Amino acid sequence: MTDCIFCKIAAGEIPANAVYEDGEMLCFKDIRPAAPVHLLLIPKTHFDSLAHAAPEHEGLLGRMMLKVPQIAAEHGLTGGFKTLVNTGKGGGQEVFHLHIHIMGTPA
Ligand code: AMP
Ligand code: ZN
Repeated sequence: MTDCIFCKIAAGEIPANAVYEDGEMLCFKDIRPAAPVHLLLIPKTHFDSLAHAAPEHEGLLGRMMLKVPQIAAEHGLTGGFKTLVNTGKGGGQEVFHLHIHIMGTPA
């Protein structure tokens, strides 16, 4: 997806404040934070949204969800955190590359 901003971030073509990366996912700071800690966790492979997830994404999505509390804890969100996945225009999605918002205030 050449015109996808999150694909470009995943490819290192656009800078981002990365806080976690492995072979299949990347987490970086949201450019317009809505909370003291506001991170976005994305798969490196492109799919538009949760509504576009296919059976082949099942394992990846599970591993991403398990990574969320680890990343949250590393950012001091030991008292809890919010996760958000906007899906589609009607769900408030602005960037059409699946992402999980991780938000909170360090305890
Ligand atoms: P959503 O409404 O769920 O699609 O959220 C998209 C999020 O991506 C917003 O919170 C934006 O602030 C964030 N965002 C857009 N462009 C960038 C960027 N280049 N680097 C970091 N965050 C971004
Ligand atoms: Zn993309």
